[in-house]
Amino acid sequence: MDKKTMFDRLVENALDFLEKAIDELNEHPKYSVIHFHASLELFIKARLMEEHWTLVIAKGKEPDWDKFVAGDFKSVSLDEAASRLDKVVRSGLSKRALEEFQGVAKDRNKMIHFFHKAHSPDADSKQKQEIIKKQLTAWYFLHTLLREQWKNTFAPWSDRISDIDKSLRKFHEFLKIIFDNLKDEIKNQKRVGILIRKCPSCGFKAKKHSKDKDTVYKSECMVCNLKNSCLQIECEDCDSHVFFEDEGFSVCKSCKKKYEPDDLVKVLIDAGAAYTATKDGDDSYDEGNCDYCDGYHTVARTENNEYICTSCFEVFEFLERCGWCNDPNTGDMEASSWAGCNFCSGKDLDRD
Ligand SMILES: [Zn+2]
Ligand SMILES: [Zn+2]
Ligand SMILES: [Zn+2]
Ligand SMILES: [Zn+2]
Repeated sequence: MDKKTMFDRLVENALDFLEKAIDELNEHPKYSVIHFHASLELFIKARLMEEHWTLVIAKGKEPDWDKFVAGDFKSVSLDEAASRLDKVVRSGLSKRALEEFQGVAKDRNKMIHFFHKAHSPDADSKQKQEIIKKQLTAWYFLHTLLREQWKNTFAPWSDRISDIDKSLRKFHEFLKIIFDNLKDEIKNQKRVGILIRKCPSCGFKAKKHSKDKDTVYKSECMVCNLKNSCLQIECEDCDSHVFFEDEGFSVCKSCKKKYEPDDLVKVLIDAGAAYTATKDGDDSYDEGNCDYCDGYHTVARTENNEYICTSCFEVFEFLERCGWCNDPNTGDMEASSWAGCNFCSGKDLDRD
């Protein structure tokens, strides 16, 4: 069997398990969790396999193509896979996505070892709601990977993936019950000055936002519990608020101006302070590189003296200069005077 066939089989399998998980969500939530987990693992393995098939094999095991094709091998754990995606494939999972996927793995183990059916119909439906909530949140992160960061890998299956997304949305009737019960709570939250906006995962207008601008904050949906990093700025063209969720891409709702991480970094850098500082020979407002997401010049020093990466929304207290190329960086630059940073190769040891 060739690599392409193996890869296609892996993806087809991932999709089969996912469709099965959705079919079972209502009647057999326990099996749904187990199948959803299997699907998630297969998608991650497929992405690793696209890079190289040996990445799918567990650490310390001898890769053997014949055994691999026969399915006779120990495969990577989720944490190992995450580290390989980051360090080898250079297309890592965000911190939030990894947490959510680890949660799915934990639930799956619980289902296999301890699951018990709830005793009353009421408790039963609560349990089901919890499972649906978690699965929709994990799907939100997986779907984002499949249609953005990894879209070239999974493009041949994009129609099937969007059908799956649609069929998951029909579980909104369950979430609607939660939403209806939250109406008073939402009113109270608004009264104390919390902004409530539509959740990108469940679609209900139940996600809490702070009113602070130019800083990263955690926003949580009261219906599906999606928790992510958000940031708001004043639109450069029309002064209305522009919201960013987890990433530096957004559109101003009022004037339709499009923002990308490059634009956001310029908005966030406190222009006045940066100008005065530069005049005094202080270069601490230079755009920095992010070690976490490999973003080049994506880190801005804001007026709150925070360093925000406009690509992955991590926040840092300080930057260190690369000892070789002198760019400010979020990572540990101790060895950089010869090893360089993520964006320069450092000293060529063979040459000297
Ligand atoms: Zn939600
Ligand atoms: Zn605008
Ligand atoms: Zn970053
Ligand atoms: Zn460097």
